[in-house]
Amino acid sequence: MDEKSEFKSGFVAVIGKPNVGKSTMINAIMGQKIAAVSPRPQTTRKQQLGILTLENAQLIFTDTPGLHFEKHKLGKHMNFEAQSALMDSDVILFVVDVSHPPSNEDEMIADILIQEKLKVPKLLVLNKIDKLKKDDLEKAGKKFQAFVPGIKTLNVSSIKNEGMGELLDKVIEFLPNNPPFYPEDQVTDYYEREISADLIREAALIILRDEVPHSIAVRIDEFTERGTEGAYIQATLFVERDSQKGIVIGKGGEMIKKISTHARVQIEDMSGRKIFLNLRVKVKKNWRNDEHTLGLFGFKSRK
Ligand code: GDP
Ligand code: MG
Repeated sequence: MDEKSEFKSGFVAVIGKPNVGKSTMINAIMGQKIAAVSPRPQTTRKQQLGILTLENAQLIFTDTPGLHFEKHKLGKHMNFEAQSALMDSDVILFVVDVSHPPSNEDEMIADILIQEKLKVPKLLVLNKIDKLKKDDLEKAGKKFQAFVPGIKTLNVSSIKNEGMGELLDKVIEFLPNNPPFYPEDQVTDYYEREISADLIREAALIILRDEVPHSIAVRIDEFTERGTEGAYIQATLFVERDSQKGIVIGKGGEMIKKISTHARVQIEDMSGRKIFLNLRVKVKKNWRNDEHTLGLFGFKSRK
């Protein structure tokens, strides 16, 4: 197989009224492929956009900004921004809460989706199936399906991480053959990892003041998505001498706790989600002169 020509890549617009579970769904999708996930800091963290790069596909999930649910804005009067966000996408995911009967807002979105000019493929995502009995699901789902005749439907429980694999497969089917839009090293969790390491180091320098001058390096050992709960980061602070290790840890672990709290708040602010941060301290003599160690810390391999 010629990998490059088989590669699929595209934009997946996520649309649905508030509280149906869009954010939870995206987090579940992202959490599934930890190593290749990046909710891109700065530009997108507030829009719940994520970029998922798999072996043969790259999915760029986008929010639908400009969608208003106030009465006077209902129906066909969706603003231009939202219209073009949908038109510019390759697939639209219409997310609904199947545990509740459809409301006007669901219908309003459906009205947008059935517009003749909106030729983008659409998938109906029936979320929160965990709240329904199997027998009731079909009936409940049909009410939503009726809004968009013939729409392909997926049953998922974002909170239980059920149905995500199938959802991804379906989405990928609709994506055009394209090389990835974002270079791979930009869409891995590289950004967040790197920025997190910087923030941890910065926190250490702020809390320790001049006590352990710049002989601290930070390595992120683990960066794991925890779905709706946020993310878990395990990191090691490297110092050059045993005496420095003592200072960094502090009496009864007081210092490292302070550093950890400071860093955690910064990382949460940067990434827009809850962070569980676990720090430890290790001595690595003369790490600054050690080629191998520098490589570990990423000083070498940056192209
Ligand atoms: P959004 O406004 O569409 O982004 O919705 P959120 O992702 O913020 O979810 C709204 C609420 O629905 C939250 O309390 C979620 O925990 C809950 N929720 C999301 N997905 C599911 C699901 O699959 N099952 C259940 N039972 N609850 C869910
Ligand atoms: Mg949301």
